[in-house]
Amino acid sequence: MTLQLFQYDALPMRVVFGAGRLAQLPDEAARLTLQRVLILSTQGQRSQAQRIEALLGARAAGVFPEAVMHTPAEVTEAALARVAESHIDGFIAIGGGSAIGLSKALALRTDLPQIVIPTTYAGSEATSILGETMGGVKHTQRSLRILPETILYDVDLTFGLPVSVSMASGLNAMAHAVEALYAPDRNPLTDLMAEAALNALIEALPRILARKNDREARTAALSAAWLSGCCLGLTTMGLHHKLCHTLGGAFGLAHAETHAVVLPHALAYNLSVAPEAKRALTRVFVEPDPARALAEFARSLNLPTSLSTLGLAEAELDRAADIAVSKPYPNPRALEREAIRDLLARAWSGGLPLAYAKGDHARF
Ligand code: NAD
Repeated sequence: MTLQLFQYDALPMRVVFGAGRLAQLPDEAARLTLQRVLILSTQGQRSQAQRIEALLGARAAGVFPEAVMHTPAEVTEAALARVAESHIDGFIAIGGGSAIGLSKALALRTDLPQIVIPTTYAGSEATSILGETMGGVKHTQRSLRILPETILYDVDLTFGLPVSVSMASGLNAMAHAVEALYAPDRNPLTDLMAEAALNALIEALPRILARKNDREARTAALSAAWLSGCCLGLTTMGLHHKLCHTLGGAFGLAHAETHAVVLPHALAYNLSVAPEAKRALTRVFVEPDPARALAEFARSLNLPTSLSTLGLAEAELDRAADIAVSKPYPNPRALEREAIRDLLARAWSGGLPLAYAKGDHARF
């Protein structure tokens, strides 16, 4: 069914995509007139950051390899001191959402331009969203100051991504696309992007699992990650992202793996009241129950299946459910505390999502 009513605000971003594109980085820095760039990464990606430093030559003013998951404010403060003392005029982040999160936090505070080079499928590069942890609590905000000016995707840089991280990150990307399909502010473009991203990832991830450096599959996955990131940036996410945000922010669970475990359950919760999303997902999975199909797909990729294996204590399920319903947010199905507690219990124990009920009745 054609959407009857929608609004669309494009996000301004330059995207440079393809194998070997890293060589173009000095030109991209020059295009933004950057003279003293701080290069950001996690410790794990330090050598890649140093490679960029060498590539940039005189335009590089050092590497700050201290980025960590969930963008803690203390790390941002330490980086800000470096920005001031080294007269930095822009940022280049290489890595996943952790490195890019730090870049965004710095850009928010300084309004300096950013070039980001994503090497996972998390999609943060394409959004004006920043989640930061302060005093153990994760706060999220949107601002155009946060949106990177340039995204440079080089598929060659993703070959180093371990297969297990690639699979989990792929499910993270799928989660953005799935929730965009029932977002209150979806539009015809996000519908197209979401379905294309899901189709591409369903084909690419098993190929990467079978052959880590399958260039064609890596290229398809990275391009789909951009589409999924755009879905995330252009729409408002629902219950699934809220649960993952809660489990990551309040309980320290690993970001991408949590997405992989929770997504089929959150989808099962919402499907019965999201008929258009259900139609799209039925097309994608060629299965009448997309939530079940998604769970089986994740299992076929050897992804973790339970929150217990990710380190959540059973005793925390009540608190997680309480946090997830503590503030209202848009979701196709009303936020029912007990049903969400049941959903989390299922995800905790590694059960399959509840079967989709024919008709429009939720089965919790
Ligand atoms: P991450 O950046 O921590 O990367 C995951 C792991 O992959 C790390 O161990 C990293 O060292 C490794 N890695 C990355 N690239 C690699 C490569 N080329 N070779 C080898 N190893 C590599 O995690 P992530 O899942 O990409 O991002 C998660 C973070 O991003 C979270 O903090 C999350 O909240 C945030 N995020 C934000 C948004 C947003 O729009 N604001 C969107 C998605 C994720």
